[in-house]
Amino acid sequence: MTEEYTRPIPIPDAASAAYWEGAKRHELTIKHCNDCGYYIHYPKTRCPNCWSTNVGDAVVSGRGTIYTLTIHHVPSAPGFETPYPVALVSLEEQEDVRILANIVECPLEDIKVGMPVEVVFKDATPEISIPVFRPRKG
Ligand SMILES: [Zn+2]
Repeated sequence: MTEEYTRPIPIPDAASAAYWEGAKRHELTIKHCNDCGYYIHYPKTRCPNCWSTNVGDAVVSGRGTIYTLTIHHVPSAPGFETPYPVALVSLEEQEDVRILANIVECPLEDIKVGMPVEVVFKDATPEISIPVFRPRKG
């Protein structure tokens, strides 16, 4: 049983298509430079580390830690029931790859900077699933 998804639906573009296709499969897919090995997020078609355009897509672990966070008390878009947490999550593959996402399955007062988290996917539509993060056990 799934709850109705009432938040805005992301619209993939050429650079982010693989990210959203991966999310649909429940795999976190990040741009990856084939020349220098740098992970790239937000999705771009040129590596910001070495300027190569030889950029592909890599499925990552989905494990990371909360780099910083905020608790929204004022609704910023339709479908967001306040208060709700928004965090920048650093991926374990590369600390400066950070994903902006909601934190789920955790009381607001327990969400902390440095907390280990793992990705899970919220199915918004048959075509779009949203990466969110929950506390990691172990
Ligand atoms: Zn590169």
